Amino acid sequence: MQVKVGIPVSPGIAIERAFVLEAEEPYIAERFVPPEAVAAEQQRLERALEQARAEIRELQERYREVLGGETIQIFRFHEMLLRDADMVQELHRLIGAEQLSAEYAISRVFRRKIQAIRALRDEYLRQRDADFQDVERRLLRALAGTTQREHKGGEEEVVLIAHDLTPSQTATLDTSRIVGFATDVGGRTSHTAIVARALGIPAVVGLGTASAEIASGDLVIIDGTRGRVIVNPDEETLKEYRARRRQFIEFTRDLAELRDLPAETRDGHRVTILANVEFPEEIGPALEAGAEGIGLYRTEFLYAEGQEPDEEAHFRAYLRAVEECDNRPLVVRTLDLGADKVGAGMAAPREANPFLGCRSIRYCFQRPELFKTQLRAILRASAYGPIKLMLPMIASLEEVRKAKVIISDVMDELEQSHVPFDDRIPIGIMIEVPAAALIAEFLAREVAFFSIGTNDLVQYTLAVDRVNERVAELYQPAHPAILRLLLTVIEAGWRHGIEVSMCGEMSGEAIYTIPLIGLGLRTFSISPGTIPEVKKVTRSITLREAEEVVDRIFTFSDARQTDNYLREKARRIIPELF
Ligand code: PEP
Ligand code: MG
Repeated sequence: MQVKVGIPVSPGIAIERAFVLEAEEPYIAERFVPPEAVAAEQQRLERALEQARAEIRELQERYREVLGGETIQIFRFHEMLLRDADMVQELHRLIGAEQLSAEYAISRVFRRKIQAIRALRDEYLRQRDADFQDVERRLLRALAGTTQREHKGGEEEVVLIAHDLTPSQTATLDTSRIVGFATDVGGRTSHTAIVARALGIPAVVGLGTASAEIASGDLVIIDGTRGRVIVNPDEETLKEYRARRRQFIEFTRDLAELRDLPAETRDGHRVTILANVEFPEEIGPALEAGAEGIGLYRTEFLYAEGQEPDEEAHFRAYLRAVEECDNRPLVVRTLDLGADKVGAGMAAPREANPFLGCRSIRYCFQRPELFKTQLRAILRASAYGPIKLMLPMIASLEEVRKAKVIISDVMDELEQSHVPFDDRIPIGIMIEVPAAALIAEFLAREVAFFSIGTNDLVQYTLAVDRVNERVAELYQPAHPAILRLLLTVIEAGWRHGIEVSMCGEMSGEAIYTIPLIGLGLRTFSISPGTIPEVKKVTRSITLREAEEVVDRIFTFSDARQTDNYLREKARRIIPELF
């Protein structure tokens, strides 16, 4: 028996024989084409690019509902890579000027890109190398006239062991037979990990040399909850893991049954659970999963298509969203472009500190026409069902007032053109800048609701880049400074009678459900996948218990102590997850 330790990326237990996938490392010979064949070679390249784009579009269509928005976004990114004008031009140049074969040109360009990415210091970006590999292989297959190999491994169920899996290999795994997987490389934030979670199959990555050491046919346990891979386990271990697998399956079944039960504490305090989405297509599945509405629709993904959407494109998306919601709450957030969310094709000047620069509402103020286009579309859609409008990145009262003036200008224009809209549309703000949290008292007088964006609030309060793996340890939602800011915001909301929700990732992490309820939060907007866990915790406690937990953690001076204490509490309620 051998125990390997890796990074747990998708919870659950799989016990099956291994199917080891041989690395599909393409070897590309240095091949040149004669001058008279250059034009034909360039045509081959164009055809391959077109085919690869079409395949990716098909993948998005086929798996949209299974995989959800975050995953679809990955494939949009692949499509963008294939549309990158500089890259396509460079490929044509290598074929035209240097007479390389299309394969060799692709391999040259992608090797260079992959090497450059692997040399980056930023862990999150470094993990994008798998995306480039994925696109490269797709292009090479298109040139060879083949399609992606399927990893059948016979008819029986298996666990897949591979050096690496590209995101599209993972997305198209036959989950009726592949019940778990483990890879040598990869990290928590890699796209492969995100896809595994979306598919709901246990997975461990970052195992080093597992694919060389495990043979097809070995009996393997994949513990995706704790990040262990056990090869040829002894009887006792096998027995223990079979029991844990059974427990986990029962647990997920219990969670599914929670779907139609209200999120309410044991002593009857009701909590509202909404979902965060990036595309209107995700709304249906989110409601299916038990969400009572949409607490955050991130509209900047309309810009991922590579060009600025016009008013009609905005309107179509919002209309679809409002129809999908069918009278349930829908919070549409205005553009949050900039920093990590720069849309393709957006002409944004380089900035030394983009997270502190011209992002979000600041960008909208600098481009009022772009802002008004979106506002017009949101207001038009508000005639078809209840919409709340939410402004991101607010740091001062002036910004709220300025945005309101622009909104009222747009309303005047619509009125003059006799276009219907909801003239009482609730206007709320995100509290995601520490300054806004500290002046919540003033802001609460001027807006209809708050939604706390902890992703940014933690980043700005603790001065920790939210996408930099090197400082990931310092990114602590349970930091006493954050807890105090949350209390300030929630209390201001209560005092002024406005709704306070939370749409940052913290609200979907079941370990924080108890203290958030204890702090007075009653609306959670979370990724649909985490709804059952949050509901489960909510239904297992009383408000009194939650308030006692808050009293206790407010005596702690550091995040680690708080996290340990909360984990212990949560473990007692859901041992399978913690
Ligand atoms: C946040 O900052 O918490 C948030 C929800 O917004 P985003 O993650 O889109 O920046
Ligand atoms: Mg934010």
